[in-house]
Amino acid sequence: MNKKTAIKFGPFSAPYHQKLVNDRFKQNLSRFIDDVLLPQLDEDVNSIQGSVTAEFNQQRYCGPNSAVKDVFKIDLALTSQSGVSHYKARLKYDDPTFSTRRGSTFYLWTPARQKTREKQIETIQEIAQNIIEKIEVKENCPVCNTAIQFTNTEYLLAIGCSNQCFSYHYHKDPETENVLHGHFFITEPDWAG
Ligand SMILES: [Zn+2]
Repeated sequence: MNKKTAIKFGPFSAPYHQKLVNDRFKQNLSRFIDDVLLPQLDEDVNSIQGSVTAEFNQQRYCGPNSAVKDVFKIDLALTSQSGVSHYKARLKYDDPTFSTRRGSTFYLWTPARQKTREKQIETIQEIAQNIIEKIEVKENCPVCNTAIQFTNTEYLLAIGCSNQCFSYHYHKDPETENVLHGHFFITEPDWAG
């Protein structure tokens, strides 16, 4: 497969990273893309663009006992026939492998997966609207298909599922029952390969 690759490394200010991110690092990253990311997409990738930066870009974070000196922020866009796949993660480099840091996974957001996720979010918003309008909730969790659990009081609207695929948690104005402020969070999927 012929793919154009344009990944910007750094700039790195720490001599530690300048030395670490050598040709071998770049080959290992390329192998990581081939072995972990590309198999998640059912088509050939024409081009890869992106950047690799150090999470902490200063020599003072690169001491012998530093837990963060080998952590890199990886941001990639893979273009194929159906569109652009995105990969954004914090990975720890341990020659020759890359492992995920907390909050990051190996999950590649392919165009098909992006569409699925948009539909899941739409369904959750419809469920929330039904609960607000006191219409019976017939849908299951759009991510894992288990039953929806919710709390709807004059102060709070909270929706979720038993697998914690998402969290919808909003405070309400008890006078008007209008939804005020809160958060909506949907868990980043994992990818075991
Ligand atoms: Zn679920």
